Amino acid sequence: MRLDGIEGRVALVTGGARGIGRCIAETLRDQGGRVADGDLQAPEIEGVLGLDLDVTSAESVDAAFGRVEAELGPVELLVLNAGIYVVEPFEETSLESWRRTLDVNLTGAFLCARRALPAMREAGFGRIVAIGSSAGKTGGKRNAAAYGASKAGIMVMAKSIASEYAEHGITANALAPALIDTEMIAGLPDMSGMIPVGRLGRAEEVAGIVAYLCSTQAAYITGEVVDVNGGFLID
Ligand code: NDP
Repeated sequence: MRLDGIEGRVALVTGGARGIGRCIAETLRDQGGRVADGDLQAPEIEGVLGLDLDVTSAESVDAAFGRVEAELGPVELLVLNAGIYVVEPFEETSLESWRRTLDVNLTGAFLCARRALPAMREAGFGRIVAIGSSAGKTGGKRNAAAYGASKAGIMVMAKSIASEYAEHGITANALAPALIDTEMIAGLPDMSGMIPVGRLGRAEEVAGIVAYLCSTQAAYITGEVVDVNGGFLID
């Protein structure tokens, strides 16, 4: 489906060398966006500007945004996708591991959104889409306290940005996916039997919602968390 309002817009996706982020970058490109994609190792995707980006470093974030601004223009569509998933029983979670998960999944999103917002405010337009997780609502099935806390954080951060920036033409929304078939969940036991639709989700099914939330059609949606989970969590 062709969406309005993405053609010609400058988009930045974080953590999109593979998986969901890569699919989001390709989808926004296919909708006519001028897309950059930043990851720890610059992604190589046809028609997409690949950037070295470590979202946990304010310097790296600033450098990546600087390159997008120089080569494509100010970021108008920002997708906060970079994330790590560490499975650890609560008592075995070291402070270092806890901090690492919060740093990548939550502080990284904060650094990128904070860097993007001044230009969006000045332009009177912006779209921010944060990739949360159903674990941010439930705490995850087991052994994922840091991950769940970080995802609750990013989803609430999107709501805070939504309230603060609505008057500037900026929307901020989040997704709460679950069990999407990527490398991130490759090591987990098969959970498709627990999903009412009977299968894992596809990255395209996440990317399509992200693109919609970036489009003109979604201009009246802000502060929302959209479940993409095949009925795994109905709340
Ligand atoms: P992947 O592990 O396939 O992709 C995550 C990407 O983030 C990787 O390319 C990774 O790079 C990158 N990344 C990690 N740390 C950093 C960093 N510091 N700076 C920049 N990039 C970084 O996972 P998915 O595609 O499955 O997940 C994408 C998002 O969706 C994540 O936020 C995840 O939590 C969320 N999600 C996924 C679900 C699923 O079932 N798959 C369900 C719910 C949410 P590298 O490979 O170099 O480490």
